[in-house]
Amino acid sequence: MVDSLNKNKFKLALHWQILIAMVLGITVGMAFNSCSAPSSVDGPGGGICGFIGYSRLNISTFSWMGDVFLRLLKMIVVPLIFCSLINGVSHMKIEQLGKVGLTTLLVFQGSMLLAAIVGLTYVNLIQPGVGFDLSHITKGSIEHLPPPPSEGFFLSIIPPNIFNALSRDDKLIQVIFFALLFGIALISGGKNTASLSKGFGQAFKVMLKITHWIMFLAPFGVFGLIIKTVGVTGLAPFVSIGKYMIVVLLALSTMLFVVTPLLVYFLGGMNPFKFFAGVKEAMLTALGTSSSAATLPVSLECVQKNLGISPSLTNFVVTIGSTMSMNGAALYEAVVTLFLAQAYAPTLGIDLSLKGQIFIVAMVLVSTLGTPGIPHGGLITTTIVLKAVGLPIDAIGLIIGVDRILDMCRTMTNVTGDCAAAVIVNNILKDKDKNIDIDLDELESDELQTTKT
Ligand code: ASP
Repeated sequence: MVDSLNKNKFKLALHWQILIAMVLGITVGMAFNSCSAPSSVDGPGGGICGFIGYSRLNISTFSWMGDVFLRLLKMIVVPLIFCSLINGVSHMKIEQLGKVGLTTLLVFQGSMLLAAIVGLTYVNLIQPGVGFDLSHITKGSIEHLPPPPSEGFFLSIIPPNIFNALSRDDKLIQVIFFALLFGIALISGGKNTASLSKGFGQAFKVMLKITHWIMFLAPFGVFGLIIKTVGVTGLAPFVSIGKYMIVVLLALSTMLFVVTPLLVYFLGGMNPFKFFAGVKEAMLTALGTSSSAATLPVSLECVQKNLGISPSLTNFVVTIGSTMSMNGAALYEAVVTLFLAQAYAPTLGIDLSLKGQIFIVAMVLVSTLGTPGIPHGGLITTTIVLKAVGLPIDAIGLIIGVDRILDMCRTMTNVTGDCAAAVIVNNILKDKDKNIDIDLDELESDELQTTKT
């Protein structure tokens, strides 16, 4: 119903609405900013500052919209990741959990690790966050995390109380551990648990629907958040945002046009030109839709028909990959987190050492497992990495304003990575048992529709 409302009343695509909200937010924010400077307060009766004085408008008249939007994002992220992951695992069959499943997961995680490293390398070289001080606009909104667990890493993955873990932002890894176990138990139950498995598929669709509604409010959220930022700091942050965009785009092109072809050639045994020629329709569809899920039918066709990979292997790797393998999102989350960590380092003392960056990569690898293949999916799950590292999520307001273009490019990287993974797994398992099958009927077309904005 909201979809139809969206279509009938707001013909303008969401990303244009967000851009307009950003421009309006900058304009109103600049008015507040210039009126708060002692030299420019005209006093009642004088120009825009006089109007602001008379109307008693202030930054918080608008900034609450940003707070509501951020709170809604925080609300949806854990249930979304939880259901997305269980839904992803439940598309497997128990017999696929062996060699094929393990090889596929290793290829996914290996390439996401490379993607995150590429992203971090660029942030370390260009340092877009250095000198980008947002501490005063987030004063009071920084929630200090409890100290890291004293037990070892492996013990800290196991939740002593899953309900406690579900309610804590810093326990995502425990939630993922439980969701993986739950998903495996679900598929091992066969027919007995088939209806619950279907139920989780439906719950995932419900979460996607709520996410869609929240994103529908994004223009208002961006408006409120930008007014707060520009009203306090002026336009200075946008210089860093420009640098940040350049870093993301450079890193994504390196991943897409250097690392991926190398992987396809050396691990997949395929000529990269043949690979790109075969998957170009999927790449362009990803660029246009910003959704791996919506691109899935095209990716499947490209990999099967143009690259000649068996339908069963393609269905397995590419379908699971549309949620659990996101090279572009992993790279992006790593860049955003280190960029903001650089910006907040002077005030929050964020650890930028190698150890700190390894922690960021670990969190990114975990959170991308549950990133949904929908527009801005990576942005939503980034909030969880930021919280884990101890960063405030308010800066999302600045980043979301420029997210569409980055989302298009990272979705293209995500989808190309899924197709490359199919080529690599196929090559690794060559001549071995590739007789796997997957039930694609569960991915009903309406699920794919809800992912388009
Ligand atoms: N939009 C991306 C996708 O569908 C997810 C992301 O935001 O990175 O693959």
